[in-house]
Amino acid sequence: MEDRKVALVTGAGRGIGKAIALKLAAEGMFVIVNYNGSAQAAADTVKEIEEMGQSAVAMQCDVSDFAACESLFKEVIGTYGRLDVLVNNAGITRDNLILKMKEEDFDEVIRVNLKGAFNTTKCVARQMVKQRGGRIINISSVVGVMGNAGQANYAAAKAGIIGLTKTMARELASRHVTVNAIAPGFIETSMTEKLPEQIRESYQGQIPMGAFGKPEDVANAAAFLASENAGYITGQVLCVDGGMCM
Ligand code: NAP
Repeated sequence: MEDRKVALVTGAGRGIGKAIALKLAAEGMFVIVNYNGSAQAAADTVKEIEEMGQSAVAMQCDVSDFAACESLFKEVIGTYGRLDVLVNNAGITRDNLILKMKEEDFDEVIRVNLKGAFNTTKCVARQMVKQRGGRIINISSVVGVMGNAGQANYAAAKAGIIGLTKTMARELASRHVTVNAIAPGFIETSMTEKLPEQIRESYQGQIPMGAFGKPEDVANAAAFLASENAGYITGQVLCVDGGMCM
């Protein structure tokens, strides 16, 4: 794979993951666009990257399935020989107040948003240690820091991501593998599109900059953390939130 860095972004067919995939490709990396259900969207992301004159490939994997992650990364390392950047972006919501939240909604969000990041990290850690370098970037959320009514499952998973990030950062630091989290605030994607207007307005009122962010705002931060310039930064949580969480 010549001198190009190889990056894998989970859930990169749409939303924030897509913006991160495009940005890393624009920085010259070969990008593996992971998706679960959105095969067409992932193919479109690959096409957009190719139209930029860069290269990418789409690979299906449900990150909550450990065995599936093992085969994905076996294929990635077997084919490309290395993995320099892993972005754990895949995530879902199943919002409800605790009085109404079903056990399966709690379990599913933890399985995808938290266990998914463990699965992929576990599968790449050995390779990155062997390479004596790598970048792991976990997409958390401001609600993992601040909490949010109606999101007990999601906030618990996102807070868990922060614990995972800090622990992995400590375990892998001596091998020059950095592990950081990004905590986006409210970003314009299909995840926030479905919020009722009244809730959107109340969220907007909590943002000092007065507006939701764009997927590209998160992608810019991810590209920085993935770059050589961020080599001495590990175990951090970078909020990209228009000043919401300070
Ligand atoms: P989105 O538009 O709903 O996209 C979610 C992505 O996750 C999709 O690409 C989806 O892929 C993927 N995904 C879901 N389950 C998966 C699984 N089991 N295996 C692999 N991929 C899976 O959401 P988004 O707003 O871009 O969110 C991206 C990340 O940012 C999430 O972790 C989210 O929690 C976090 N975040 C978002 C906001 C926000 O305001 N939007 C704020 C803070 C944090 P398929 O379509 O292929 O299933």
